[in-house]
Formats: sequence, structure tokens, C-alpha cells
Amino acid sequence: MRFDLKLLDFVDCQIDGDKLAVCASDRDLTWNEFKKEVEEFKQEILKYDLPKGHPVVIYGHKEAKFVVSMTACMSLGLPYIPVDTIYPTERLNKIINVVNSAFVIDTIENKINFNKDNIQTSYALDDQIIYIIFTSGSTGEPKGVQITKSAWLDFDVWLSSEFGLSNKSVFMNQAPFSFDLSVYELTGFLSLGGTIVLNSRDMADAHLDYFERLKKYGCNVWVSTPSFISKYLLSNEFNSQSIKDLSIFLFCGEVLPSNTAKRILNNFPNSKVLNTYGPTEATVATTLIEITPEIIEKYSKSLPVGYVKEGTVINLLDIDSENIGEMEIVGDNVSIGYFKNDELNKQKFEAKYEKRSFRTGDFGYFENNMLFFANRKDELIKLHGYRIELGEIDREFLKDERISDAITIPLKRGTEVMKLITFIISKEEINSEELKNNISVSLPYYMVPSDIIFLGAFPYNNNHKIDKNKLIEIYKNL
Ligand code: AMP
Repeated sequence: MRFDLKLLDFVDCQIDGDKLAVCASDRDLTWNEFKKEVEEFKQEILKYDLPKGHPVVIYGHKEAKFVVSMTACMSLGLPYIPVDTIYPTERLNKIINVVNSAFVIDTIENKINFNKDNIQTSYALDDQIIYIIFTSGSTGEPKGVQITKSAWLDFDVWLSSEFGLSNKSVFMNQAPFSFDLSVYELTGFLSLGGTIVLNSRDMADAHLDYFERLKKYGCNVWVSTPSFISKYLLSNEFNSQSIKDLSIFLFCGEVLPSNTAKRILNNFPNSKVLNTYGPTEATVATTLIEITPEIIEKYSKSLPVGYVKEGTVINLLDIDSENIGEMEIVGDNVSIGYFKNDELNKQKFEAKYEKRSFRTGDFGYFENNMLFFANRKDELIKLHGYRIELGEIDREFLKDERISDAITIPLKRGTEVMKLITFIISKEEINSEELKNNISVSLPYYMVPSDIIFLGAFPYNNNHKIDKNKLIEIYKNL
């Protein structure tokens, strides 16, 4: 038995029902138990008589109920919006208001919050929306990326055939479900009939216990951003002698440094390191490559992000003299657009081809058919895998009347963002901790800058833009 994504229901395909399906932070479920719980929860949801396509918010962290809820929603044709506890309540409430949801499942308290005033909201499309993931938006408003069944199936066909996965795959999940990286593990275990092992932040922080957990469940597929694995690579226990089953390391979401890939292959000599690239707007990932020692040797400065998946095309727009251009993704894995954001959709998801397209804002180039990531066009950066539009942080600071201007700058080592620094112009010196506390009411912790520097004025460059290099210099000389 497994969950068939095409039918959005369980089918019997001779997987042992006693095999583990979901190993969560609170409890484990076999496939039989998982199926039973999904079916029972579907019956409970049906009692509320929600209109077809009513958006359901799922709030929690790594509880078994989170996976049960997502699966039940898919099956009932209700788009779900995963919100991890990483988001403060204000952001959760904002999302609930934006989508006008009457139905919020709290998987920590194991309860349903029902607001019948919003019950009229229906959102049934022919191409069913499976989920809406909210990402950081430069206007200060989070943007809801809508992924439909057709996009998800397109991704699933690729994932199930090209990554070396099977029903024996035991996926290590640690990325929050509000981050589309986690769709790898979710799709993989559901579609193939494998196992998903959810690890809470606390669990992943206690390194040795965490390794024991990976061993206990026989995790063989590691999925994370490259920065997440770096801290473990320093441990003497993180190798194939100690953790025998880990055999696939799958990365996405930020630059994979060649040193990280090298260390993994050193510690786990028989493993496969896979690099993938893609924005949430094109369902998890669009390119794939196995990073072998030969690839590392040849491209040690900048590893390729891979070959474009079949059926999808990446065009390079406005190519410069070095053959670098803005990546435009065209394919069925592209989202139908941001939730109720026609203006932005016209710009980013232009309907100019037969298939859906998305202008990524990422710059890249091709070499021997392989795509390489060059940089970002705008202020969208990645810190520990989390996508952040820096303007959103500045706007939060500017809500404070004492502050007249604010600019947040990433401090980088190579292409990797190490931390965020905000430069502030204010009438008076304000306590930095107080400011950080204030913005953390509405922003997740990873968007709160490490340092705040007060200045009398910003330095400007010849183009009359704030001189960011100068700001970094100021910071380094403090
Ligand atoms: P998200 O929507 O949170 O997955 O973030 C998508 C963005 O992450 C992309 O637009 C890129 O800027 C960046 N990104 C994703 N994968 C990679 C990769 N393999 N290498 C470099 N940057 C990446």
C-alpha cells in the first residue's frame, strides 16, 4: 500500500503494511496505521462541510499529524498551506488572513481552529492546487506560491526515476514543511512507498543523539541545504563506519561548495552526492547532477547545478558578453503563479509559451549542457538555506518611528552568506537587542540580523546608490 499521487488516494501495491511510513518527533506510524489515520482524519474534516478547494492552514513542526494532515488535504482536494513554528504568530495570522482560511490544523496541540466566518472561501480549480508555500516577499508581504497537481506530478515522475530512489528509501527530513525542500522527502516517501523520518530542530541540534536516530531508522537518503550538513561534517562520528545506511546526499536551495562535497565523499566514500537547483515557483528543483570526484576536480571553483530535467527548458535571457543570462524556467513543473497577485504574476509568470514559465531572477550559464549558478539579480539571498528578501527586514525596522533608514546587508565568504548586518540611521541610539526583539515578533528568527550598526548617514557610490561595499568595510573596521 502506498499513496498514489495520480489518484490522490491509497493504492495497494504490496508494500508490507507493518513497514514504517512516518517516524515523527512524537510517534511512529506503520503504513497500515498511517492509512487508517489519514482516512479517519478525512472523515473528521468532512464534518465541517468545507467547500471544495477551501484553503487549509497546517501549523506545527515535526509531528506525525503534520504528514497525516497534508495527505488528508490532498486526498480531499483542499489546498494546504504548511506553516512551521519557525514563523511567529503574527506571520501565521497574516497568512491565514491572506488566504481567508476557516480551517487551521494545529498539529502540536492536535486540534482544529475553525472560523466559520471564512467558510464561504472556495478555491477549486480544474488543475487542483495541492499546496501553497509562502516565501519571503520584497513588498513586505509574503508571497504564496501555488503548486498544482500537474506541476507536482511532473516533479514526481522525475524524482521517482532519476534520483536512484525506491520503496527502500528512508528519507531524513529536517527542513520545515513551510520550506519547499521538504517536498522532496514528502513526495518521495508517499509516491514510492518508502519511509520518512522527521527530525525536530532540537533533535537535529543534539548531534550524537541525532546520529543514533539516523542509525535506528536506517536513514539512507539525506536531504538538506548544503549549509545544514557542514556542522555535522566536523564530527568524528559522521562517517560511513558509524552511520552505515546513508548512501544518497541530496542538496538544493543554495550553493554547494566543492569542499562540502569533497568532505562528504571522504566520509562516505560509496555514497552519491546530488546537487539540484530550483526555486519554489518551479516545484522544488529543475536541474540535477551527481557530484563525482571527477566533477569536483574539474569544476572546483564552482560546481555545476546540473542538467535540466526532461520536459522542462531553462532559457537564458539578456545574455551578457560572458554568456551569463537570467534563467527562465519553462515547463509543467512551474507554478500557476502567486496567490491572488495578478500584477506580479504578469511580470514573473508571463504566458508567452505553450507551457508555464517563470523568470527566476537567478543568473547562470551553460557549459557542456550543464547549468551553473552565477548569482542573484535582486536582494533575495539564502542564509542557512532559508530564502530571504532583504527588503522585508528593512521594512520591519522602518516601522519604528525612531528609525529613518535601514539597510540589511549579507556578509559573505565567497558566495556563501555568513550573517546579516543591518545599518540603521536613527535620531537616537537605540538598544540593538530591543530592536531585534521588536522585529522578531513578526519575522522568523533567521531573518533577524546578527548585528545592528548605527550610522549618521549612508555612504553612496557614483551611481547614487548606497555603497554596500563601503558599509561592509565600515563593519569590518569596527
Ligand atoms: P527557494 O524558493 O527557497 O527554494 O529558493 C530558490 C532560490 O535558491 C533560487 O532562486 C536560487 O537563488 C537559490 N538556489 C536554489 N538551489 C540552488 C543551488 N543548487 N545553487 C545555488 N543557488 C540555489
